[in-house]
Amino acid sequence: MKYAEEYRDPEIARRLIAGIRQESRKRVRLMEVCGTHTMTIFRSGIRSVLPETIYLLSGPGCPVCVTDQSEIDAFIEIARTGGVTTATFGDLIRVPGTGSSLERERAAGADVRVVYSALDALAMARKHPDRRVVFLGVGFETTAPTIAAAVSAARDGGLSNFSVFSSHKRVMPALASLMEMDIRIDGFLLPGHVSLVIGAEAYRPLFDRHRCPMVIAGFEPGDVLAAIHRLVRQIESGRPDLENAYPRAVTAGGNRKAQALMASVFTPADAVWRGMGRIPESGLALRDGFEAFDARRIFGITLKDAPAPAGCLCGEVITGRSTPPECRLFRKACTPAHPVGPCMVSSEGTCAAYYRYHPETGDTGKDRS
Ligand code: SF4
Repeated sequence: MKYAEEYRDPEIARRLIAGIRQESRKRVRLMEVCGTHTMTIFRSGIRSVLPETIYLLSGPGCPVCVTDQSEIDAFIEIARTGGVTTATFGDLIRVPGTGSSLERERAAGADVRVVYSALDALAMARKHPDRRVVFLGVGFETTAPTIAAAVSAARDGGLSNFSVFSSHKRVMPALASLMEMDIRIDGFLLPGHVSLVIGAEAYRPLFDRHRCPMVIAGFEPGDVLAAIHRLVRQIESGRPDLENAYPRAVTAGGNRKAQALMASVFTPADAVWRGMGRIPESGLALRDGFEAFDARRIFGITLKDAPAPAGCLCGEVITGRSTPPECRLFRKACTPAHPVGPCMVSSEGTCAAYYRYHPETGDTGKDRS
């Protein structure tokens, strides 16, 4: 298959499903590490067509969901600062922090804007030289290059009222950390967007260390089914491998220009993940030389420990240790209209996906193997 349309073709999907059903014998737990994969799987009903031997669990692939409570609180602290305009992506402003959210701060008078990219925030800074514009950056290697471009443009343009609070995360250290945790994962569906930037071979050291089946997948239903089929074949044959099932977009070396741009502005730094704690070198901090654009330094922010909302299992959901229906707040105190945790806020969150697509049968969606 070469073009995106083929990956939506029902006949091809039927063939892939038949292949999976025929070849799958062992009970396996496969984790997707990408919010877009989560939505494709739920939206297209992939779980319902897989044999009982295959259990799919969602990992830390939703950028808003993995953003720690302490970071949300720091965003709110900045938003409350006089003369500051904070700009970020839509979902983030609804995530509850400790006692408030960016949305509530906006209702209380703070200047909080929703933008589609960091370049929009940069344009805002140019237009309003009297305001200090802070872009609150969350996301993985997929979005980091565009943030780096905005910071570079701000420096080249001599802009002094634009900065970035970087809460960006790196997928690889999180995968490594996940593999050290006491969670049974028999294979990974690796994220297509991130892989497009970092390249398929970036996973090689991790694969060599753990020999856990890994397949890079695209985002159409056929992409995901093809990747699951490959994982099943690896597992059934006892020959784990690192495969690229998304070659129409992902190359072995990735996007070198994006990597160079990212490396010119950011450097790996320790980061805190919701549900996973502090993971060495799993974040991206602004390099020395970019202090004037680093909101953490400008506002003297240090992250303060903040407990997750009472009763919220997002940390467990993100790491595949719990399913949303196992959370006692699910569909009760926590709904998309009144979210308690980020996994219900984000359009890519597992709780939001369960809310929308998982039938209310009392089934918790828990693996029984
Ligand atoms: Fe958190 Fe709500 Fe999900 Fe429970 S249902 S884990 S409270 S987001």
